[in-house]
Amino acid sequence: MNKSNIIKTSFNRKVLRSSDTNVFKFVFTKPDVAVEAVLYRYGSFRKRTVICCSTQCGCPVGCSFCGTGRGFVRSLYSDEIVDQIQQVMEIVEKDCPSSEIEKFQIMFMSMGEPFLNYRNLHDAIVRLHETYPTAQLLVSTSAPSVLASAKYPFSEFCDMSRSIPKIGIQFSVHESTDEARYRLIPTPTCSLEQIARLGETWAARTSRKPFYNYCVHAWNSSDADVARLVSLFNPAVWETTLSVICEKNETVKASHERQLPLIWDFSRRLLKRGASVRIFDPAGQDDIGGGCGQLWFFQKWLREHRSK
Ligand code: SF4
Repeated sequence: MNKSNIIKTSFNRKVLRSSDTNVFKFVFTKPDVAVEAVLYRYGSFRKRTVICCSTQCGCPVGCSFCGTGRGFVRSLYSDEIVDQIQQVMEIVEKDCPSSEIEKFQIMFMSMGEPFLNYRNLHDAIVRLHETYPTAQLLVSTSAPSVLASAKYPFSEFCDMSRSIPKIGIQFSVHESTDEARYRLIPTPTCSLEQIARLGETWAARTSRKPFYNYCVHAWNSSDADVARLVSLFNPAVWETTLSVICEKNETVKASHERQLPLIWDFSRRLLKRGASVRIFDPAGQDDIGGGCGQLWFFQKWLREHRSK
């Protein structure tokens, strides 16, 4: 399939540019849905381009820090997932053809839980891989409990990940005990042990490392937290991402001040225990609400939509 085969859906788009000019927020709307995507340019689009797109309008998971606030409208069709990327790429490709981007990453992680919309996610991944074969395709999941059930097609996802080596998976872990994690994610979610097993299964089937994502704060950054994480997520199998996370009404600057020193210290202690660690810093997004969980425009749209 080439780009002309992608069915054009009727999203209207608004593009907002961060003041540092390297981050762009896309707000896509139709009469019944509004979703957000974010485009990051690292140096130049040719050097590194990252797109975070949505898989659902709102989200039924309801993480306590997230702007979706359990405001779930509906899952997106595969056309609508693909259309976000296609529209973002219209801007990127004015600068650089996708095939010439040195590091090109498409992440299913703006709004929605991808694995609660599996059929459309699967279809979108296949189509995006055909259209942008050099792009890495990273699925970020909160690990809803259904993922660990025998009926869930996780095995099919592993098969697809095996046949499309560009696919990656990241689990949003964020706490080192189930009790603390359940407070963060108030809907049924996998236990940390179950997440560890799912990642190991995926790693064994693909021979690649899954990621787990951890947002460090004052109450989950002790040596005991480090020890629990290393014991759950074997460094020989897992990669660690430590993220700055913006609470739904918090600025990126405030979240930096709150988290960065802790993150660096926590990272040093994980590295000492053999973990492979990277830090995700959503710098430069303060004026567009691009930080994870912020989703300012969706929040506004939902308030207006519900008051009609
Ligand atoms: S953080 Fe992700 S999984 Fe959690 S409620 Fe928000 S969109 Fe859903």
